[in-house]
Amino acid sequence: HAKEEGKNNAQFYSEQLKSDSLERLALESSLRKALERREFRLYYQSKLDMATGRVIGMEALLRWQHPELGLILPKQFIPLAEENGLIIPIGRWVIHTACRQNIAWQQAGFPALSMAVNLSARQFLDDGLPGDIKSALQATGMPPQLLEVEITESMMMVDMPRAVSVLQELRTIGVRIAIDDFGTGYSSLSKLQALPLDTIKIDGSFIHDLLDNAVDRSLTEAIIDLGKRLGLTVVAEGVESAEQIAYLRRHACDQVQGFYMHEPQPADEAAISLQRRIDNVFPC
Ligand code: C2E
Ligand code: MG
Ligand code: MG
Ligand code: MG
Repeated sequence: HAKEEGKNNAQFYSEQLKSDSLERLALESSLRKALERREFRLYYQSKLDMATGRVIGMEALLRWQHPELGLILPKQFIPLAEENGLIIPIGRWVIHTACRQNIAWQQAGFPALSMAVNLSARQFLDDGLPGDIKSALQATGMPPQLLEVEITESMMMVDMPRAVSVLQELRTIGVRIAIDDFGTGYSSLSKLQALPLDTIKIDGSFIHDLLDNAVDRSLTEAIIDLGKRLGLTVVAEGVESAEQIAYLRRHACDQVQGFYMHEPQPADEAAISLQRRIDNVFPC
């Protein structure tokens, strides 16, 4: 009886595996066509300056508008795109599109905002990255200092000397550099200090329970303090309440980003939010 069940289980798992790999195969083949079919979208989420309450920048977040499956989030296809290398042309499209959007907003009369794009490990280590960034800046007329690349700690730690040289190359181009999801990786502080950085983004997981969790508060305060000592701009991600903003302000966090201010939106909706000039959304 037990043996029978085991066999059924094995059969179930092998069926499951087959359908998983078929699904994966189908996803991979539609991912290959997604660029030329123009199925990728960029959503934009605001970043606000704590001192003035104003929107000072945007972050571009990738979505895949799949004809059958609907809107697909990055965690469902970026790992696959990383594995098969498609992240390189997709990433090139992201950088170019984000720069073009930024210029379009400037031409529409909005004050110059910064524009952040996320990079994955494979992009970061690709020899073509600096050239791709330069081409996007040149083709769109985007001032380099308005573009910020977001990378994670783990991407830095794999090969520090290589990471430092890539970052220095990006620095030379004039783009800004942010460490994303800070606090979730394993970077040593001495290594961090050796990197040419502009910004630290405190991971949303620390912000989420800020008001109820003393450990998260200590870590958040320590990261803000560290950032300040290194002369960096400190951004809190994942801000969802007025209480969190008040707390972060008391502890001198420079910028905030999160659903409480704006969710990621398509460009036209983001522009409407900008037009409304949601100044001073903070409780003062
Ligand atoms: P991330 O760069 O840390 O982006 C923040 C994520 O948190 C986004 O998820 C955003 O929608 C979400 N978020 C923003 N505010 C809040 C909030 O108040 N509460 C909560 N719970 N979540 C919030 P999303 O858009 O699903 O992106 C997930 C990750 O995918 C990004 O994390 C980034 O690492 C990666 N990613 C996004 N776009 C790109 C891209 O163009 N290229 C690459 N390589 N990676 C990307
Ligand atoms: Mg990011
Ligand atoms: Mg993040
Ligand atoms: Mg993240």
